[in-house]
Amino acid sequence: MATALRLRRIGYAVTVIDNNPKAGGRAQVYEINGFKFDAGPTVITAPFLFDELFALFGKKREDYIEFLPVEPWYRFEFSDRSKLDYGGSIEDTVSEINRLSPGEGNGYVDLVNFSKRIFKVGFEKLSDQPFHKFWTMIRQVPALLALKSYLSVYKLVSRFLKDERLRRAFSIHPLLVGGNPMNTTSIYCLIHYLERKWGVWFPRGGTGSLVEALVLLMQEEGIRLELNYSANQVIVEDGKAVGIKMAGGLEKRADLVVFDADPAKVYRDLIDEQHRNKWTNRRIDQLTYSMGLFVWYFGTSRSYPEVKHHTIIMGETFKDLLEEIYDQKVLSNDLSLYLHRPAATDSAMAPTGGDAFYVLAPVPNKQASIDWKQAGERIRLQVEQQLESNLLPELSACIEVSHYVTPDDFEGKFNTLWGCGFSVAPLFTQSAWFRFHNKSEELENLYFCGAGTHPGAGLPGVVVSARLIEKLVPPARDDCLSDLRRLFSSKSKTFSLASLLLPKAQADAVFRLYFICRTLDDWADEGNADLLRDAMDAWQNNLPHDLLDHYRFLQARWGLERKPLTELMKAILMEQQSVRMSSEAQLLEYCHGVAGTIGLMLCPIFGVKDEKALEHANNLGIAMQLTNICRDVFEDAENDRIYLPADLFSFVLTTKDLTLGDCDSRKACTAAKEHLLQMADELYANADAGIDYLPLRIRIVVRWASRMYREIGTVIRAEPDHYHETRAAVKRSKKMFFLIKCIARSFYKN
Ligand SMILES: Cc1cc2nc3c(=O)[nH]c(=O)nc-3n(C[C@H](O)[C@H](O)[C@H](O)COP(=O)(O)OP(=O)(O)OC[C@H]3O[C@@H](n4cnc5c(N)ncnc54)[C@H](O)[C@@H]3O)c2cc1C
Repeated sequence: MATALRLRRIGYAVTVIDNNPKAGGRAQVYEINGFKFDAGPTVITAPFLFDELFALFGKKREDYIEFLPVEPWYRFEFSDRSKLDYGGSIEDTVSEINRLSPGEGNGYVDLVNFSKRIFKVGFEKLSDQPFHKFWTMIRQVPALLALKSYLSVYKLVSRFLKDERLRRAFSIHPLLVGGNPMNTTSIYCLIHYLERKWGVWFPRGGTGSLVEALVLLMQEEGIRLELNYSANQVIVEDGKAVGIKMAGGLEKRADLVVFDADPAKVYRDLIDEQHRNKWTNRRIDQLTYSMGLFVWYFGTSRSYPEVKHHTIIMGETFKDLLEEIYDQKVLSNDLSLYLHRPAATDSAMAPTGGDAFYVLAPVPNKQASIDWKQAGERIRLQVEQQLESNLLPELSACIEVSHYVTPDDFEGKFNTLWGCGFSVAPLFTQSAWFRFHNKSEELENLYFCGAGTHPGAGLPGVVVSARLIEKLVPPARDDCLSDLRRLFSSKSKTFSLASLLLPKAQADAVFRLYFICRTLDDWADEGNADLLRDAMDAWQNNLPHDLLDHYRFLQARWGLERKPLTELMKAILMEQQSVRMSSEAQLLEYCHGVAGTIGLMLCPIFGVKDEKALEHANNLGIAMQLTNICRDVFEDAENDRIYLPADLFSFVLTTKDLTLGDCDSRKACTAAKEHLLQMADELYANADAGIDYLPLRIRIVVRWASRMYREIGTVIRAEPDHYHETRAAVKRSKKMFFLIKCIARSFYKN
C-alpha cells in the first residue's frame, strides 16, 4: 500500500493486485461470529512513517486514524513466574529491571545508548538507501564493524545484562522480523531504539483500521485495488517485465511491475528460470528462511482485565527452543508465546463482558516435515493449557470463537515460500546488498518491496522499502523526457546550452521544472485561466493532474517543497486580470511569487538546503524578474499590465502613458525603471554571495545566468529611449565572453 501511494505520488497510474479477498496482506482482519481479530501486526513502532504517507498528499494521518499509546509496551512473564514491565520512560524500565535483578539498570542504560549508535547507522543511514550496488555495502562495512555487527543480538545484549531473564527479554527483537536472536546480526538491536525513540502504539479500532485508512487514502488518490486476483506469471519480453499473467489467463500489461509478495516465491514460481542468472532455484533453496508461525485467534465470554496488551510468555528454555525451531525443525514441548489483548488499550476491541485475543507461537517453517493438519489442533490445545495454567484461568470453559493458522496458511494464503512468516531470515549475509534487491537484478522494470527485500520485515521495514522504490523507479512517463529536453532547447537556447554543464540527473530535473513553469506561464499568456484554476484546484485538493504530477515527482525525488508551487500558481493567477502594482512591496511579493519561488525550487535539485542559500536564491529570482519587468514595460502595457509601482509616480500612470506617452511620462518611466534596476543590482549582489553554496558546475551555470540578466539592465540603461519599445537583449559574443569569465571565476573561487 505504501509503495502504491508513493508510485501514485510520482505520477504513475497504479493498480494493486492481491490474491486475498481483503486488503492488508498479513495485516488483514478476521471476523468470526461478531469478534474481530487483527491477523498479524499489532505493535506499531515509528508511527511517523505513517504520518509521512498521508503528508505526501497534504493530508493528516490523525484525520484518518488515531494512534493510541500502549502501556506498558510489553509485559514479560518468565517461567519462574517473575514479571517485567517494559516501556514508558527509561527510568520506568530501569526501576523495573532493578526490581527484577538489582543493580542491572545501568547496564540497560548502556544497552540503550549502544542501540542508539546502531540506530544512527542502521536506520538513518542504511535502511533508507537502496542496496542494489555492492559499493554502497562496502562503504558501510567499517561503521558496521565498529558497531560489532559481527555479534549476534543475544551476544551483544549479554555484554550489557547478566540476568538470563533480562538477556532473553531484550534479545527478542529479531523474532519480530523472523530472525533467531542467537545468529541475527546485532544491527537489529536498532529496533530496540526505534521503540525507545518513538514508543509503541496501537491504532484505535485495531491494525485493520489502519489498513482501512490507507485503503481510503488510496481510493482518494485514484489507486485501483483489485482483490481476489492471483498473479501466476511475470510476462517477460526482451529482458523486461512487461506485465503479469493471472490465474485464469488474464493478462495485465504495465510499464513497471512491483512485487510486494515474497521475492523468493516470485523468482522461483513466477519467472521462468531461463530469465534468471542470480536467483536460480538452487540459490533460492540454499537461503535461510524465517520461522513459521502458529497463530490462534480466540474470543472469550469473560474478560481478563489484568492481562496487558502485549504479553510475552517465555518458556523454560530459550536457546534450545530456538534451535528446535530454526535448526532441528521440530515442534517443541516448551513454547514461548506472544499474547495479544487489544482491549487493554482500546476497550472497543472486545464485546461487552468478553475478551478477544490472539496468541502466537514461533514454530518451524515448512522445511520441517510437520503435518499441520494433524499438529495444528494439538498445538492449539498445548497453547490453551499453557495459557490457562498461568494467565487465563478457566479459559477452556469460556472460549466463544476459535480459529488458528499454521505455516500451511501462510503458504496458501500469503504465497510465502516454505510458509514462513517473514520471508528470508535477517542474517547479516541476507541483509542489505545480500537480500533481494528492491530493483531486480534479473529483469528490467521489475521491482520488489515488502518484507523479503531491504530493509526487511515488520511494518517500519516494509514502509521504508516503499521509499526506496520511489527513489529507484524511473520517472513516470519517462518517455516525455526527450520532449521536455526538446522544448527546453527550443524555447531557451542559452539555458539549454548552459544545462550541458549540469550532471544529467539534475539537468533532467531542471527540464521537468522548466516544463511545469513554462506550461503554467503559457496558459497564463494564452488567457487559459480555466486551465490554471483547474490546476490550482487539483493542487489544493491533492488530486491527480498531468502537469502537477511532474512536480510531485520532483518533490519525491529531489525534496522540492510544496509552498513555492502554491505561491507561483497564485501569482500567475493574479496576473490573469489587468495588473496595477500599487507599491514596491506589492511588486516584490509578486516577483517572489513568479520567480523567487523558482529559485527555491531549484535549490534542492542543486543539493542546497541551507536557509541562507535559499534566501539568496529567492533574491536572484526577484532580481531577474525586476529586470524582466524593466525590459517588457511597453509590451506589458499593451496587454493591460503595469508592473511599475504606482508609488514611484507623482501622477496616475495609465497604459497609454507607457505606450503613447509624452516626454514627461517617458522620463518618469525611465526614472522608475532605473530605480527598479538599482534594486535588482543590490539583489544580484546579495545573490552572488549565495552562489558559493552551489557545487562547481552548477555554480558556473547560475553565475552565468545572473550575469546575463544583469547585462540586460546595462543594455537598457545605455539607451533607455531606444529600449522602451524594443526588447533589450545581450549579444551572443557577450554571452560567450560571460560564460568563459564565469567558468574562470568559479574555478578560481574553488
Ligand atoms: C502474526 C504476525 C504478527 C506480526 N506482528 C507485527 C507487529 O506487531 N509489528 C510489525 O511491525 N510487524 C509485525 N509483523 C510483520 C509484518 O506484518 C509483515 O512484515 C508485513 O505485514 C509484511 O508486509 P508485506 O507487504 O511485505 O507482505 P504482505 O502483508 O504479506 O502482503 C503481500 C500481499 O501480496 C499477496 N500476494 C502474494 N503473492 C501474490 C500473487 N502471486 N498474486 C497476488 N497477490 C499475491 C499476499 O497474499 C499478501 O496479501 C507480523 C507478522 C505476522 C505474520
